[in-house]
Amino acid sequence: MICIPVTERTQCAALRSAAAAAQAADAVELRMDMIEDGDLPRLIDAARRAAPRVRIVVTCRRKDERSVPDGVQPSREMTKKAKMALLEQAIALEADFVDIELAEGVRAIGRLQSLIRRRQGKTQVIVSWHDTAKTPSLAKLREIFAACVRTGADVVKIVPTARRADDNLKVLALIRHARWRGVRIIAMCMGEAGQQSRVLAPLRGSFLAFAVLPSGRKSAPGQLSVSTMRGLERLLQDGLSGIRPRFSPGGPAFVLLGNPVAHSLSPLMHNEALAAMGIDGHYSAFCVTDPAAAVAGIRGLNIRGASVTLPFKTAVAGCLDGLSADAAALGAVNTIVNERGRLTGHNTDWLGLLQALREETAIAGQTFVILGAGGTARAAVYGIKKEGGRPVIVNRTPEKGRLLAAAFDCPCYPPEALGKIRARALINTTPVGMTPRIHESPVPAKTLAHFPVVMDVIYNPLATRLLKDAKAQGCRIVSGLEMFVRQGAAQLKLWTGREAPLALMRAVVRERLETLDNG
Ligand code: NAP
Repeated sequence: MICIPVTERTQCAALRSAAAAAQAADAVELRMDMIEDGDLPRLIDAARRAAPRVRIVVTCRRKDERSVPDGVQPSREMTKKAKMALLEQAIALEADFVDIELAEGVRAIGRLQSLIRRRQGKTQVIVSWHDTAKTPSLAKLREIFAACVRTGADVVKIVPTARRADDNLKVLALIRHARWRGVRIIAMCMGEAGQQSRVLAPLRGSFLAFAVLPSGRKSAPGQLSVSTMRGLERLLQDGLSGIRPRFSPGGPAFVLLGNPVAHSLSPLMHNEALAAMGIDGHYSAFCVTDPAAAVAGIRGLNIRGASVTLPFKTAVAGCLDGLSADAAALGAVNTIVNERGRLTGHNTDWLGLLQALREETAIAGQTFVILGAGGTARAAVYGIKKEGGRPVIVNRTPEKGRLLAAAFDCPCYPPEALGKIRARALINTTPVGMTPRIHESPVPAKTLAHFPVVMDVIYNPLATRLLKDAKAQGCRIVSGLEMFVRQGAAQLKLWTGREAPLALMRAVVRERLETLDNG
């Protein structure tokens, strides 16, 4: 539903604008905080005469939540008493919606709700929240959303200001969150950087989209014209038919196979990413005991893709129809792609690790110490060699270290030798320091000063003891979170052929881990 705000300064101009808006849009928002001598009954009447079915929204925006585009004079602030009287008048006039900010308090919101009940009125209450400067974290937006829901709002409206393109993704994820809970939401970002959300939010289920008449005044920066919105709406509706049928709506299109999987953050990360990509799929975790049976299930249920985690990364390889060159070289599969019943195994662990490392250092011609000789160490050695770097293995069990070193033709040393090795970076692939043993580190702090860059593949906790020590020694650090989100983004690329929303994936995983860190 497209809504045009009426924001003219005078009653005379607002009457003209209300009539024109009613004919062009599905709803008209009367911004009574901007129309200085606004006569509400006459304005509602003008809109309804022009288009009897148009929905009327009555708003008196608080000054601190009002965003005024450049060149527009800020208008007056109404007293709370005058504002409440006006919203009560709107209820008496049977406006379809009244908009009141969460900041006005539960008592004021409750007063409007009980008036509607007493009158057995049809008006619905929009409880709104705006940030005219920034977009907070998704976790914070969800808290605000929950506070709005607790007031008994009929519709929740959340409108922050985008500073960067990925702020739009937070708002789109919030819409998904609201829809899962069956709550009607209006959400978008203000500002030029927020224009993507103005187009995409209604398609993702935002209840209203705001637009302006070609000659109209914007009530918030970044608003698009009504004709642009209608055109985009048509274009995207057509385009959606090309995207959606690839996946069965609501079906478990993607799965994680492992044992255990209960604490995996992959479902959170992938479901948020799928939603932001506009893909009607779902990612579910399965704790399995028989990898061959689980792979048969992928075929039988026509699941589009799977992630594979411990302890099955090696075992599933033999159950598939083919392996990518990387998965074959590593002898490990963390991703399965189902192309019309043909299952191919891939490995994105090495790619995630390498991409994360590349953010802090060049690889070619440099030496890298790899602590550990398990599956992740193998992925690290493989990736570094592939890119022209020189891996050096340091492992607790000499025999296991030597086996890995022989497979990739690189040196291997015992942990006691670490202080004598000079290298560009040290990469920990052991589980030392992982939750709950967060005070442990695989390397004495003073040894770290030999390495300009230190990476830990552990991501829970986010800041391991190793990374804290490394930072204190002046090293640049790379966290396991970077590897985790990048291997996940590479999986999504393999499954969908599209770039994944890396920033959103990082943000949701980071937020969840920070919550876990805080107990
Ligand atoms: P793995 O195959 O079991 O290998 C673990 C290695 O760590 C072995 O070489 C083992 O040495 C060494 N090790 C274990 N405990 C040790 C200790 N107390 N002191 C010294 N060395 C020790 O495990 P993996 O699959 O490679 O996984 C390793 C870590 O990577 C896990 O913490 C996992 O969560 C993490 N990981 C992160 C990501 C990500 O995306 N960030 C992806 C995959 C894995 P021995 O040879 O002596 O037994």
